[in-house]
Amino acid sequence: MARSTPLATSPETLVRLLGVSKTYAQPDGYDIRVLEDITLDFHPGEFIALLGPSGSGKSTLLRIVTGLQEPSYGTVLYRGRPVTGPNLKAAMVFQSFALYPWLTVAQNVELGLAAKGVPPAVRHERMARLVELIGLDGYEDAFPKELSGGMRQRVGFARALAVEPELLCMDEPFSALDFLTAENLRSELLDLWLDQKIPTQSILMVTHGIEEAVFMADRIVILSKNPARVVADLPVPLPHPRNRKAPEFTQLVDQVYKVVTGWDETPEARQEEARAEAAGERPRLKPLPAGHLSMLTGLLELVADRGGRDDLYHLGSELLLEVDDLLPVTDTAELFHLATVEEGDLILTDLGRRFCEAESPERHAIIRAQLLQIPIFRLILRVLESKANRSMVKEFFNDILEEHFSVKDSEIQLRTAIYWGRYADLFHYDPDTETLYLPEPDPGSEEPASPA
Ligand code: ADP
Ligand code: MG
Repeated sequence: MARSTPLATSPETLVRLLGVSKTYAQPDGYDIRVLEDITLDFHPGEFIALLGPSGSGKSTLLRIVTGLQEPSYGTVLYRGRPVTGPNLKAAMVFQSFALYPWLTVAQNVELGLAAKGVPPAVRHERMARLVELIGLDGYEDAFPKELSGGMRQRVGFARALAVEPELLCMDEPFSALDFLTAENLRSELLDLWLDQKIPTQSILMVTHGIEEAVFMADRIVILSKNPARVVADLPVPLPHPRNRKAPEFTQLVDQVYKVVTGWDETPEARQEEARAEAAGERPRLKPLPAGHLSMLTGLLELVADRGGRDDLYHLGSELLLEVDDLLPVTDTAELFHLATVEEGDLILTDLGRRFCEAESPERHAIIRAQLLQIPIFRLILRVLESKANRSMVKEFFNDILEEHFSVKDSEIQLRTAIYWGRYADLFHYDPDTETLYLPEPDPGSEEPASPA
């Protein structure tokens, strides 16, 4: 029997997160807070999409929900009971498929059943049924490396579904697949779910695709970043099958777009910043968005051609960019005061218009002036200027950044900083020696050389 409405949920709670926070300890002893005070209930009957910028902590939250990881603070309840270890009622589908290469398709699918102590005959029967249901028949004895990405993810789904999980968790399950394969698998999963061909009570899917979320889910929970908080929790009151071209659909996509591009900083984050400043604490470095400058320039020019304002959702679909690709670029535009995002539109500022009309040297000068306002660039310049040889190894700045960001993020931050700094001619970088340096002061430049 098909679910009558997308929101035919039971009032009972399947998963309850109460004030869940997560910090990761850095090698140098500093803590990075990834999740902040997440309180959410998931109910039977719900298909929930969890949206958030990349690196915001979506995977972390999923692992906490399934008991694969413990929160630093707060509680996770499953059907009212505290979760203290891997939740055997839950199963996970990973973006990277995560299959055992030395096991056949059949063995991979049966794996979770063996762990649960299901007798071999039952295991085999269930495997055979799922292999058929998921469209893998004929491939039972194949090894993962013999399969295409789409077929591998089918194995990922079959393996998760084999244990008949009450809660099916999926971490960007479609994002490593090509467009058509992803689309097929999405529809097939929706069929299984809506026609109740699987006993799963609730699905929790992490995604960075807004359209994917609106296409599949009954409810969309949106997280912010650094640290992640819940910034919106929206119902998707559209009946299935959903038509991506229908006005109700695009309106909802637009609405989600506005939330995702508009949260910027939550009031809590601003309060915390004000508190830290008042308490005289060392200011936290804010992460730089990893926007590509060529993409930034292209996007701004496109908007300038259209009178200085355009809808981000439309721009994204025209440029075939997911919000995840577009956001770092619009964040960069905002950081440089070249544009603002309002109501899901990208609007050029006066500076942005000037930037678009300018030739290359003036563009570099504009970016340079903006970089000089950003703490990490001020820090880099201060260090380089104070050194007799006007240079410093990259590692030094990496160590500083690691007090503020995870090891991986520090690397990304520094890469962005170097890329921008070079573009704006703020400093140079020698990749062979991994050294940042300032050119020798030019006696002919604006700084008059002191008389001999
Ligand atoms: P998302 O899935 O939203 O991209 P993740 O949950 O993977 O985000 O990661 C959130 C943040 O936590 C990132 O900055 C990441 O670098 C950091 N992180 C994730 N796992 C660990 C870990 N085991 N140790 C330290 N930092 C981690
Ligand atoms: Mg992730």
